[in-house]
Amino acid sequence: MLLLTAREPLVPDEFKDDEAFMSAHAHMVELRNVLTRFSRGELEVEIDKRGFVFGSLKALQANLRHLIWQVNQVADNDLTQRMDFLGDLSSSFNSMVRNVNLARLELEEKHRELTALTKELREEIQKRSATLRALRASESRFRYLAEHDALTGAMNRRSFLNTAEIEMQKSAYAELPCAIAILDVDYFKNFNDTNGHMAGDMALKHLVSVARKVLRSADFMGRYGGEEFVFFFADANEKAAMRAAERIRASIEEQPLEYKGKTLGLTASIGVCVVKPEWPGERDQGYLMSIMDNADSALYEAKKTGRNRAFLVALEPPPVQGASYNDTDSE
Ligand code: GH3
Ligand code: MG
Ligand code: MG
Repeated sequence: MLLLTAREPLVPDEFKDDEAFMSAHAHMVELRNVLTRFSRGELEVEIDKRGFVFGSLKALQANLRHLIWQVNQVADNDLTQRMDFLGDLSSSFNSMVRNVNLARLELEEKHRELTALTKELREEIQKRSATLRALRASESRFRYLAEHDALTGAMNRRSFLNTAEIEMQKSAYAELPCAIAILDVDYFKNFNDTNGHMAGDMALKHLVSVARKVLRSADFMGRYGGEEFVFFFADANEKAAMRAAERIRASIEEQPLEYKGKTLGLTASIGVCVVKPEWPGERDQGYLMSIMDNADSALYEAKKTGRNRAFLVALEPPPVQGASYNDTDSE
């Protein structure tokens, strides 16, 4: 009954004084308790009976507790754990740990490959962005060289004409006047002959830096060729344009070139032509060239009347086919 029922049966009174029976009964009760608790996974149960069966139970208890310790070791990443004391369970445990170890080695290998690949990719990206940066730098360098004069750093003729055409159109849309000025260094052949060609080059560079300092931010200049420079004055009527030209002329005269211990004076003549917004005609390259022609005539007058001066062209719009226009308005 003791082995068959869930509840522990009472010992019949007639056996209570039977020592052998009671000892066998106590052993059976203990065995029942230990097995019941083992079945629930309670391995901490204390076995205090001796003998072959209890010895075997103690051995099973020790093995199972050791197995638990080994499983915890595996959980802590010790994949060298192996066991040989639990038959089939041992071989299953060992093959499980071996497989986990193999999977981990494979993962580590993949991780190494991925790390190397990431490093290669990062280096490639760095190389490409460096190349891209160098390309962009050389592209903007080439653009700069294509648009600027190598000696003075001023805009070159083509770049000046393109920009001036656009700005002249903007002025017309905004119904604002603007002006073009042409500057020519006075007696520059003589300057070269007296001081040398190198000094002449330095004088041209110097002239550009002096002129730039007195330009308003919306104005710009270019080297038209040789010792001739051109200017665009934004939002400038006759008075403002002449003031700007006079400022340039005066600063050139007042700031001679210091070259090899010598002070070399320089003057320039300037011809100015204003474009009024109400003048008819499309503000295209041809229109700009006729304005330049007018400024050139003014420059010729400046030269003719003594040099080192700014001269404003007579107030006349450039000829436009089919239009007759005569504006004498001045500020
Ligand atoms: P003007 O007052 O009538 O303008 O007299 P000019 O001597 O300036 O006129 P001309 O046209 O006879 O001489 C211009 C000189 O400018 C001749 C040329 O050697 C010099 N020149 C042009 N470009 C450069 C340059 O880049 N460097 C140097 N050093 N001289 C230049
Ligand atoms: Mg000249
Ligand atoms: Mg000259």
